[in-house]
Amino acid sequence: MNDMFCFQCEQTAGGKACTRVGVCGKKPDVAKLQDRITASLITLARAVGGKAHCADCERAFMEGLFMTVTNVNFDPRDCQAMVDRIDALVAQAGGAPAYDADQLFAGNEDVVSLRSTLLFGLRGMAAYAHHARVLGKTDPEVSGWFAKGMQALGEDHSVEEWLGLIMEFGQVNLKCMGLLDAANTGAYGNPVPTPVSTTRVKGPFVVVTGHDLHDLKMLLEQTEGKGVNVYTHGEMLPAFGYPELNKYTHLKGNFGTAWQNQQKEFDNLPGVILYTTNCIMPPKPTYLGNIYTTAEVGWPETKHIAADASGNKDFGAMIQHAIQLGGFQEEVPGEPLLTGFGHAAVLSVADKLIEAVKSGAVKHIYLVGGCDGAKSGRNFYTKFVEES
Ligand code: SF4
Repeated sequence: MNDMFCFQCEQTAGGKACTRVGVCGKKPDVAKLQDRITASLITLARAVGGKAHCADCERAFMEGLFMTVTNVNFDPRDCQAMVDRIDALVAQAGGAPAYDADQLFAGNEDVVSLRSTLLFGLRGMAAYAHHARVLGKTDPEVSGWFAKGMQALGEDHSVEEWLGLIMEFGQVNLKCMGLLDAANTGAYGNPVPTPVSTTRVKGPFVVVTGHDLHDLKMLLEQTEGKGVNVYTHGEMLPAFGYPELNKYTHLKGNFGTAWQNQQKEFDNLPGVILYTTNCIMPPKPTYLGNIYTTAEVGWPETKHIAADASGNKDFGAMIQHAIQLGGFQEEVPGEPLLTGFGHAAVLSVADKLIEAVKSGAVKHIYLVGGCDGAKSGRNFYTKFVEES
């Protein structure tokens, strides 16, 4: 008898499934609550007839799905609160037959795989849609598909029907990626190739990780002129490519490397760490007290910064904490990194590239569309680039 079942990410135990405890640190109680969130969202989708008919429902689909993405929320209280919130919306909508969470991963293996493909895709799209939404960009087709997709998850379909649903969802997901691109570039400009310092500068600091550029912008505004530097970590590195973020001189550089190295890199860090999205790993006691989470991110015993009704966040206490910790005591030089090679940067040299291809100066174009896994040996992309 399994204590839990989760196989949604590349870290999964033995390449099969986490059944006792998550490799990511997810415990069985949280895994079960996350299954209940998913089941309650299916029930809500039934109650609203597969159409998100109110703003509260739209947000519940988006935020509930986002919470269940890998390395986002490990706090049972947050998960239970989300279940209660969804169940209240089901009641408001007039109720519906409850979906049984035990059915999520039950049945024919091919059907479970197809159902899971749609579910995991919806979870990922929820994260994109959330980031676009905080920057004021929404699309009714994207928002509406969460209810449609969750309703479909609770139904029986033939393999052909599942494939049709997944292909349709793929088109909507592509639209959502375009929406997020428009949100980010509309707010902060098109990314431009930019060198990023990895030098640690003397003084107090905040390390920001995750993907939420809006959180970073609010933090940069609130730390400006306070003598507190801001460093990116992991997924937040590309922020340097955006002119409207890179213009802040106290956005000092990138600290550390990839998300999976955080437990080593944050050990005894003399600064605070803000997690904006999916990348939190079980914190060590040596930095647990310096962690702040926001949005859908949660870990028991960490401080959470919520948005007010207008979407603003007050990072004041966290900034004071950074000042108290004192920060780096001396400068530590580092080698620069490069980021900012977005589609606009590439297309701006398209004519030169076409000429180079025609003249034979460029003979091969390699497209890297992924990233290495956390485990050693899962370095396909690094090898691919090195050998290209
Ligand atoms: S999200 Fe966590 S529990 Fe689920 S497969 Fe990944 S490592 Fe395992």
